[in-house]
This record gives sequence, C-alpha cells and structure tokens, in this order.
Amino acid sequence: MKHQDADVLVIGGGHAGCEAAYAAARAGAKTLLLTLKLSDIGVMSCNPAIGGLGKGHLVREIDAMGGLMGLAADHSGIQFRLLNRRKGPAVRGPRTQSDRVLYRRAVAEILASQGNLRVVEGEAAAFSREGDEIRGVRLANGAEINASAVVLTTGTFLRGTIHIGMQSHAGGRIGDPASHMLADQLREMVSGIGRLKTGTPPRLRKDSIDWNKTELQQADTNPAMFSYLSDRPCVEQIACGITHTNEKTHEIIGNNLARSAMYGGKIQSVGPRYCPSIEDKVTRFQDKASHQIFLEPEGLTSDLVYPNGISTSLPTDVQVSYVRSIAGLENAVIAQPGYAIEYDFVDPQVLDHGLRLKDVRGLFLAGQINGTTGYEEAAAQGLIAGLNAAFAATGRQAISLARNEAYIGVLIDDLITRGVSEPYRMFTSRAEFRLSLRADNADQRLTPKAQELGLITEERRAKFSAKMALLEQGHALLRSSDATPSEIAAHGIDINQDGRRRTAEALLSFPNIVFEKLEPIWPALQVIDPGTRDQLTIEALYAHYIWRQQKDVESLQKDERLVIPDWVIYSEIGGLSAELTIKLERVRPPSIGHAARIDGMTPAALTLILAHLRRGTRESA
Ligand code: FAD
Repeated sequence: MKHQDADVLVIGGGHAGCEAAYAAARAGAKTLLLTLKLSDIGVMSCNPAIGGLGKGHLVREIDAMGGLMGLAADHSGIQFRLLNRRKGPAVRGPRTQSDRVLYRRAVAEILASQGNLRVVEGEAAAFSREGDEIRGVRLANGAEINASAVVLTTGTFLRGTIHIGMQSHAGGRIGDPASHMLADQLREMVSGIGRLKTGTPPRLRKDSIDWNKTELQQADTNPAMFSYLSDRPCVEQIACGITHTNEKTHEIIGNNLARSAMYGGKIQSVGPRYCPSIEDKVTRFQDKASHQIFLEPEGLTSDLVYPNGISTSLPTDVQVSYVRSIAGLENAVIAQPGYAIEYDFVDPQVLDHGLRLKDVRGLFLAGQINGTTGYEEAAAQGLIAGLNAAFAATGRQAISLARNEAYIGVLIDDLITRGVSEPYRMFTSRAEFRLSLRADNADQRLTPKAQELGLITEERRAKFSAKMALLEQGHALLRSSDATPSEIAAHGIDINQDGRRRTAEALLSFPNIVFEKLEPIWPALQVIDPGTRDQLTIEALYAHYIWRQQKDVESLQKDERLVIPDWVIYSEIGGLSAELTIKLERVRPPSIGHAARIDGMTPAALTLILAHLRRGTRESA
C-alpha cells in the first residue's frame, strides 16, 4: 500500500480498536483499522470469557449503543451464567465463557459487513505531525497513512516485555512482537508514561485432565444474553470443571518464589489487584489453605483448557510441579506456560472526557494503553474514542457519557480525574448511581442517545420501540389497577389495613410480592408477557430508591455546569497546596464537578477555586 487516506485511522485490532473502528464507521467516517496481523482481529489475550460483575454492564451499554462486543459474545458463548443471580438486579453480572475461535470470527465478520470500514495489516511506527496536530502515521515498511483523526489502541504492546521466571524477552503478548518505535515517539510527545504489568496462567491439554476429580459447573438453563438483539445462545453450551489448590501446591510455590519474575525482583511495576497471580495469593492470603480454580475449555473444538485463578510468572518447571499437585491435574500437560507482561501505559489524566489527548490535536487513546485491564473496559473506551474521532474528523460535536448515565461514563471519568496507580477494572461498587445504572436497562438509558447520533440499525430501532411500547402499556395497566387493603388481603397478600387503596405498581415494589400474586386480584395483568413483567418488577422495586437518588444526580449536574475556563492559572490561586496545584495544572478539569473528584481535593480548595472564578469573571465583565 503506497498511500491511504481516511477520516479516522484506528491503530490496533484488539477489543478497543475493533469497537472504535466499528463506532467510527457507523458514525459515517471513512475508517481504516490498522493492526499487526489480520488474523489477530479480536484476539482474547487472556481468559476466553466476556462479562462478569460490572464488566457485563459495560457490554450491555456497548450493545445499547449499537456496538459489537455483545453480539460477538452471544455468537461465541459456550457457557452463559448470570453472576450474583441471588442478589439485587442492580449488581447482577451477565458473563459467558467464549469459544476463542468463534469470538474472533464473529468480530471479523461484523467488521467485514460494516460499510465505510477497511482493515489493513501493518505496524504503525511513527505519527506524522504538523505542529501539535496528528495527521496520520508512517508504517514500519515506510508507507504512510493520512487521516484527520487517529485512535491509538495498542494494548499491552508498547515496549511489552514478557517474563517467565528469570527469562525475559520483548513481546506484545506471547507469539507477538512488541511495539517499540511508536512507544519511543509517544514518550517524547506525552508526559506521564508509566509501566504496568499483568499475567496469564499456563494453558493445559484438555485430555490430560482427570475431569472425574473435578466438580462440574453447568451453564444457566435460562441464559441472560448480552445483546438486546439476541434471544438465545447460538452454539452448544458446555460445563467447566472446578478444582482447588492445596497445601502442597502452596509449598511448591512458596519454595520457589525467588524464581518468580514478580517475586525475584525482575518486575517492579504494579499488576491488577483484583486479578492476583497465584504467587500473590499464596503470599498475601497465608491463612487460606486452598484457592478455587475454574477449568474453562477454550472452545467447542479446542484441546486447550484455561485454568482460571492460577496466573503466574514462575519458571516452566515450577509451573509443571505446582499444576500437577492439584486434584484432577496430576498428569496435566502444559501446552503453553503462564507468563507476566510489563508494558507502557499513558496516564489517562492527560485525556478529556471524549478520550482525546488534551495537548495533541487529532489523537484519541483507548483500552489497556490508558491503564485499564480487561476486554470490556477496552471496548467501552474504544466506542467513545471511535465516535469522537469520527465526530472530530467530520466536524460534529464531541460526546461523552456522564456518571449518572452509564458505567462507561463512570469508567472514563474515574480514569481522567483520578488517573491509575494499578490496572483499573470495573466493579459495580465504582458506580454511585448503580441502582439506576443496571444491566437490564442499558438500552433505555442509551439507545435513544445512539439513535439521535445515527448509530443504530433499523432492526435495533424497531426492536427497542416495540419493547418500550409494551413497557408503557404495562406501566399504564399497573398504575390503573388498584384495590382496597381488604380486597388485596382477600387474595392472601399480607398488607397494612389502613384503608388506603394501592395500585398493582405499588404492591410490586415490595420484594416479596411477585407478579403472579397480583393476577388473581387484577386478571387483566395476564396479558403482560414474561419479559415485560421482569422489567416492570425490577423498575417497581427500585422506583423509590431512584427517586431518592435524584437529588444527588441534580447536585452532580449542577457542579458539572460550573465551567472552569481555560484562563485559570492554578499557581495564581493563593492557599492551594503545591501538590494540588500541580495536579490541577496537569488535569485542567473542565468543571467544578470534575475538580471535586480529583484525588486529594478538599472542600476548602474548591472554595478557593470558586472565589477565584468569581473574581476573574467580575474583572473580565
Ligand atoms: P489488545 O487486545 O492488546 O490489542 C492491541 C492490538 O494492537 C493488537 O491487535 C495488536 O496487534 C495491535 N498493535 C499493537 N501495536 C501496534 C502497532 N504499532 N501497529 C499496529 N497495530 C498494533 N485482562 C483481564 O481482564 N484480566 C486478566 O487477567 C488479564 N490478563 C492478561 C494477561 C496477559 C498476558 C495479557 C497480554 C493481557 C491480559 N489481560 C487481562 C488484558 C486484556 O487482554 C486486555 O485488557 C485487552 O485485550 C485490552 O484490549 P486492547 O484493545 O486495549 O488491547
């Protein structure tokens, strides 16, 4: 390829890159996705699974905005399970184990069927720049690609170093080269580049495992799908095995810690706290005699198994010994050793809410490069960066999602206001408005917005409208069905006999009252279909809490509307600590709301900034 022009160029065909390219193309931009190997589009570098607690919410939101991750997960899912099923609907997390090959194929097919989008193979070696503006990239083979906006999504590849015991080599993940040239240039262009690490377990041969010694975990019989367009799994559902480490395993690991890349001093960077290596687990939780391991088949036809829970950077011989000390794995054959990887990441505080670099025009960053971990976190950022790159290239206004609108909003706001000191992963506890940001209502929160932006297909629009019409009818029926306490009690529902008439909707808000108990009182409710009933029940259950949450939402919105103009120089504000001044100069928060969420911010410092703004506004008036 000699010369290529695009509105948007996306570098990297991982989870952030694929979602970014798909979003940019859907937004009408002529888009080019450049990646190291065409065959690696949508590769799952680590565990073959999508979703989970908090992460499942992100996938539903991506889907609600017309993205691809939910569809690809539904096409390749081999074990759907709704996590936290017994807890409240707000914290339930859809998850599936995926067939790796089918997932990759689904992503490639979705991209291939999207207009405006081309995928090319090559290594981006350097950005082409004009002043502080990015104009495209030069490839390692010398070719150039010009684009109005560039989205960088290189994951763990920037100066990636792979560690297995005391042996290290350059690599973006096992079997792939690292990206050095681009990493060097990025270090010159952007301040705040750091190193993080992550790790993966050894892969085991399926037929070397004694499955009779493991406990089998089946898929859900009523699977929760990711995409609002899907009704049921597309392929066969399988079981996975559960086994445990034991004292012998811990002894082998403990005796060999000095040979672990992480504990032997080869790796200093910080890894994901919530996804610890087996070395971490054995050292940090010494009171625990065993840890659970899920033996997850990598696909319907694959002969590999992913042992979830034992990621490691110990040398291969130690991996063999500790694996074989585990029940069911006595004769296990390691097909690929586990390893740790260190890589460059960019402090996300240099980005704005649209994931655009504040000081370099035309460049957007998404995915693991921003200090996150996980496919879902990467894809969520890819969606927003891809859309904003497309909007920047075609002269449309940037978009962002607020903390009260979406987990995607929480993710990006956390990253850009607080930065990261360890790989960031999503949890439901990170979302202060989680009662309203549920996985079940992602479409109600985001599909209308996506429709306004012209991002969704006619199929999605029609399905969403039909669902909303049924919900509206259901709500109307629930509100117009009322009865006295004695009429209600006559049907076996224990209710306060205070003489007040109650609607069916009010009764549904009690956790112990299910739809079926209401039908004998109001037979008209029988027309409501099962899906609509589930949704109405969840909405009734949370209605009161959400109403109470509204005050907090309004206060957040008020603070977000208090804009901090560009003319503010924080070092001129007397009374601010030196540390806070540096942080504020670096982040340059666009609003008081944003400033309030910066780590270390105090009410006193906010008062000083507000007073400075008032003085400045008076002086310029
Ligand atoms: P990636 O999926 O890494 O994709 C990067 C893409 O960029 C690749 O397609 C690559 O070919 C391309 N690329 C790189 N450089 C260039 C260049 N110069 N030019 C063109 N293309 C380029 N996540 C978890 O949630 N839990 C875990 O336990 C976990 N463990 C992991 C262990 C390992 C060893 C690795 C490697 C990753 C692990 N992950 C884990 C992280 C997960 O894989 C990532 O979060 C996710 O893949 C990030 O997506 P991404 O799109 O940002 O990057």
